[in-house]
Amino acid sequence: MPCSDHKTNQLKAYRLLVRGTVQGVGFRPFIYRLATRLNFNGYVKNVGEGVEIYLEGSSSDFERFLKALKDNLPPLARMESLDWLAVEPEGHHKFIIDRTGAGESFVFISPDIATCPECLKEIETPGERRYRYPFTNCTNCGPRYTIVKKLPYDRENTTMASFKMCPDCRHEYENPLDRRYHAQPIACPQCGPQLVLLEAGTGKPLGQPLVETAIQLVKQGKILAVKGLGGFHLICNPFHPQAVSRLRKIKQRKVKPLALMARDLETIDEYAYLSRAERDWLTSPFRPIVLLRKKKDIPEIAPEADTLGFMLPYTPLHHLLLKELKVIVATSSNRKDAPIIKDGVEIGPELGDFILTHNRDIAMRADDSVMRVINSGPLFSRRARGFVPFPQRIPDFMKSKASILAVGGELKNTISIYKNGYIVTSQFLGDLDDYQNFSYFLETIDHFKRLFDFKPDLVISDLHPDFRSTIYARSTGLPHYLLQHHFAHLLAPMIEHQVQSEDRVLGVSFDGYGYGDDGQAWGGEFLLTDYCGYKRYAHLDYVPLPGGDAAVREPWRMALSFLLKAFGEEFPQLKSLTRIPSQKKKAVKQLIDKKIHTPLTSSAGRLFDAVSYLAGLAPEKIEFEAQAPARLETAASLACPTARSYHYLFLKDKLPYRLDFTPAIKEIAEELTREQAPEIIAIKFHNTLARAILDVSFQARQETGIDKIILTGGVFLNRILLEKTENILKKNAFKVLRPVYYSPGDESLSLGQIAYGLSLTAR
Ligand code: ZN
Ligand code: ZN
Ligand code: FE
Repeated sequence: MPCSDHKTNQLKAYRLLVRGTVQGVGFRPFIYRLATRLNFNGYVKNVGEGVEIYLEGSSSDFERFLKALKDNLPPLARMESLDWLAVEPEGHHKFIIDRTGAGESFVFISPDIATCPECLKEIETPGERRYRYPFTNCTNCGPRYTIVKKLPYDRENTTMASFKMCPDCRHEYENPLDRRYHAQPIACPQCGPQLVLLEAGTGKPLGQPLVETAIQLVKQGKILAVKGLGGFHLICNPFHPQAVSRLRKIKQRKVKPLALMARDLETIDEYAYLSRAERDWLTSPFRPIVLLRKKKDIPEIAPEADTLGFMLPYTPLHHLLLKELKVIVATSSNRKDAPIIKDGVEIGPELGDFILTHNRDIAMRADDSVMRVINSGPLFSRRARGFVPFPQRIPDFMKSKASILAVGGELKNTISIYKNGYIVTSQFLGDLDDYQNFSYFLETIDHFKRLFDFKPDLVISDLHPDFRSTIYARSTGLPHYLLQHHFAHLLAPMIEHQVQSEDRVLGVSFDGYGYGDDGQAWGGEFLLTDYCGYKRYAHLDYVPLPGGDAAVREPWRMALSFLLKAFGEEFPQLKSLTRIPSQKKKAVKQLIDKKIHTPLTSSAGRLFDAVSYLAGLAPEKIEFEAQAPARLETAASLACPTARSYHYLFLKDKLPYRLDFTPAIKEIAEELTREQAPEIIAIKFHNTLARAILDVSFQARQETGIDKIILTGGVFLNRILLEKTENILKKNAFKVLRPVYYSPGDESLSLGQIAYGLSLTAR
C-alpha cells in the first residue's frame, strides 16, 4: 500500500515490487544506475513475480526515483504494476544487483526488438569497434524470443551459446554502467556471428565485401534469401519487373500483395499516405508491416489492393542493405502454405539465386507482424515478430491455479498457454491442414513448454471434431474441453478489454467458417455472451453452401446459391455468371437440390463472396483466403461516400432471429442489369451490413438492456466495414469493443479458448 510521505531528510527505506516485462530487458542495470545516481543503498533482484527493489536514502530522493522510474523505463521493459511500502531500514552500505534466486512463478521473455538508435549510430560510425557489423545489439535491442531455447534467459540457453565472448565484449557485459551489461546476445566482429553470401544450389561462397555484393545482385534483379530474426526473407528489387514476376512464380502468388521494406519514413512517404499513428507504428521498436493507403503505386506489388504494406529495417543487416537500396520487396521465405524458413539448408535454388545468411541459429520462427491503423488504433492481420511473447494479464476474478493449453482452430492458427495469472499467445503459425505447418504447431507447443516451464493440466480445442488441433488435443490424454468457434472469437477481446464477470455483451462474430453447435457452417453470428456461455441471439439466414470447401474456393457457387434463394430457377442472367459453363452451374444446382455435400451456412464471408462475384469483382477461383471480399472492400474504398444501402429482412418470429439479405440480392441483381458500377454496389453493400448490425444491436438493447457490442471475426479485418460499424454503433450510444493487440481472425481463437478454460477452473 502506498503510504504518506514526510518531507524529512532522515534515512528512510522502501521496498518496491515491479511486475511486467522486467526480466532480461536491462531493467536491473537501469535500476542500479538510477539508485546509485540518487545515492541509494540497497539492492535490486529478480523475484518470481517481477523485480524487487530495496532502497535506503532520503524521501525526497525517493520521489525523484519514482518519477525517473516511470519516465525513463528501458525501451523493452513494460511495467504492469508498481507497488511500494515504507519499511524499517536494514542498514546497507552500497547498492548491488542481487543475483540470487529468480523464484518460480511466471517469467517474462521479451519479443525481438529493432536495432536501437545507439547501436545504429555505432554501425554507421567508421572507427567504432562494431562499424558495419550486422549483429550489433545491446540490452535495449536485438533478438530475444527467436534465440531463446529454454529458461533461464542466459547466454548458454540461447543460440549465442557457441560464441565465446572476446575480452572487450566480456568487459562490456560485466560492467553495470555499460549499455551492454548482461545483454545475452552481445557480439562483435571478433567473437560474434559472421555473414556469408552463397550461390543457391551450388552453395559456393562469394568473397568480400558481402553486403556490397548483395546490394549489386539485388540491383541487377537477382532474388536473395536473407536471414533475418525469425526466418528468411526473399528480397528483390521492386522496380525490376522480371525480378518481381520471378518472385511471384517462386511464391506461387499471382496477385497477393508483397511486403516492402523501405530505408526510412521519407521514402515511404513517397509511395503512401502516412498519419501520425502510422508513423509511430512504423518507427516503433516492434517494426510491424503497416498497410498504408497508396499514394504512388509500384506496379505488381499489390495490384488488387488500395494499400501497400511497408516496414522499416529492424536488424543492422537490413540497415546496411537499405542504405543503398532504398526500397526492397521483403516477403517471408516460405513455400506455399508452409512455415517461414529458418535454416539455410531448407533453401534450394528454386527459392532464389543467392543466400545471405549467418551462423547464429534461429531457435523459434516468427513471421513479420502485419497491421493497419483503424480509427487511430491498430488492427492486426498477423501478430508475430515484435509482439510475441508479450503476456496478457487477466482480470483477478479469473485467476486459476490450473495451467491451461489452448490449441486454436485450423486456419491461421496460434496456440496459447495460461500459467500463474498470465496468458501467452504464440506467433501466427499458418494453416494446419499443411503437414509442415502442423509440425510447426507441434514445435511451438514444445518450445512454449520449455520456455515457460509449462505443464498443462487441461487442454481446450475448437468444437470441430476433425481439425488437426482438435485431434491433437484429444491425443494428449489431458482433460479436454471443446469450445464453439464464434464463442471463442468473442472471448478473446473480452479478456483483452478485461470485461468484468457480471457483464454480458452482444458479440458480433463474422467470419468465413466455424463449426456450429447445430452442426451447420456458422459465420454470421450475434451471440449474447459472458465468460461462462452464450445464447445464439441472431444470425445471417441460412443458405446452402454447395460443395462445402469447394464453395470457398469458387465464389461463383455462393453467388448462384444466393440467386437461387432470391429468385428460384428464373434468376436474371448476370454477366459474371454467364462466364461459368452451364454444365457446371447445373451440377452445383443439383448439389443444392439434392443436399449433397451442401451444409447450410450463415457465413458473412460467403455473403461477401457472393456479392463480390455478382458485381463482377471476384475471380472464378480464388488465389488466397478472403480474396473476393478484399476486392469488394477495395472497390468500396474507390467509391464516392454515400449513405445509401439495400434492403434486408430482420426476421423476429422466433429466436434465434435471422437477417435475410434476399431483398439486397434482388436489388443488386436489378442494378447490375442496369450496368451499375461495381464500386457503388460495393459501398452500398458495406453500408447495408453496418445497418443490419445496428438493427440487431437496437433489438438486443431493447430486450436485454445490453449496450456493449463486440465486433470480431476475420470479416472485421475489412477496414470499411469495421469503421462504418464502429462509428454507427458509437453514434447510437453503444460501447464498442474490438480486438486491438490481437487479430480479429482465427489467430485469436486460442486466446478465447484460454478464457473459457479459466471460467471452468477459476478459484
Ligand atoms: Zn541497441
Ligand atoms: Zn566480442
Ligand atoms: Fe473464425
